[in-house]
Amino acid sequence: MEEKVFYKMLEIPKHCTDEELKKAYYRAAKKYHPDFCSNEQATKMFSDISITYKRILEQRKKKFSLRKIFNAEPVDDNSEIYTNPPEPGTDIHTNINMSLKDSILGSRQRVLIYRTSRCGCTNKNGEPDINCPVCYGLGTYKKNVNIDINTPANIRDGQTLKLTGKGNAGDYGAVNGDLIIHVTVIPDKTFFVKNNDIYIKKTITFPEAVLGLRTNVPTIYGDTEITIPPGIKPRTKIRIPEMGIVNGSEKGDEYAVIYVDIPKIDITGDDKVYKALQFIQKNVYNRELPILDKCVIS
Ligand SMILES: [Zn+2]
Repeated sequence: MEEKVFYKMLEIPKHCTDEELKKAYYRAAKKYHPDFCSNEQATKMFSDISITYKRILEQRKKKFSLRKIFNAEPVDDNSEIYTNPPEPGTDIHTNINMSLKDSILGSRQRVLIYRTSRCGCTNKNGEPDINCPVCYGLGTYKKNVNIDINTPANIRDGQTLKLTGKGNAGDYGAVNGDLIIHVTVIPDKTFFVKNNDIYIKKTITFPEAVLGLRTNVPTIYGDTEITIPPGIKPRTKIRIPEMGIVNGSEKGDEYAVIYVDIPKIDITGDDKVYKALQFIQKNVYNRELPILDKCVIS
């Protein structure tokens, strides 16, 4: 293919930088590659473009080497790209949602990202191979990648994790970008976090509140037994030491906040409950229970 036709086809000026040339070639190669476009005309176009690109690239390199050796003439704009450092890869941002328990204890998570990855093909000079059917000589290509990560313990909602070098691959010879993971902690139905402490609601019955009991409650680390003393007042907090969040050398506590379930009982046709309540009213509070007519019974 004539150079003139080639540049016209790639829609770039002849005096473009190598970088621009590379990008335009990449675009065109993708357009006409047999994987994407399977007619005969496209295949021929792909072959023509590839051959011409290789030829132009060789010419440009040769021109540059001669200038370097003989230092004969000032370097024109076109050779700037040889002194510019290769472009590093860009960062990739992604999100993960995790349970509160995973955020406190640390967890293993998998994220799927669409990343520019290094191809691995090389020519005899150790550079990306222009004949490579995957990267067309760019040394990188885009693909879906699963990344497994171990998230640290005690990560909070809205925090980010940075995985250095796990972002998009840079140009040949340049560093990769980073993978930045934004963490969302899904609110929990059982555990509520405040600083390093964890709170749970523990609902007990009215007789249990009177008598006290030993009962199991959940913690982030598994169930544990607590003692609820007799006569406990609603909203009393029972401390469960060191069952909170480990934060450096500190360890928070868990608090079981006691709720008392006061029932509404239909005593119509069965006055056993009324009699029991009357007994409590008289013997515990030394007061008379309102007569049934004055009670609000629904
Ligand atoms: Zn390749």
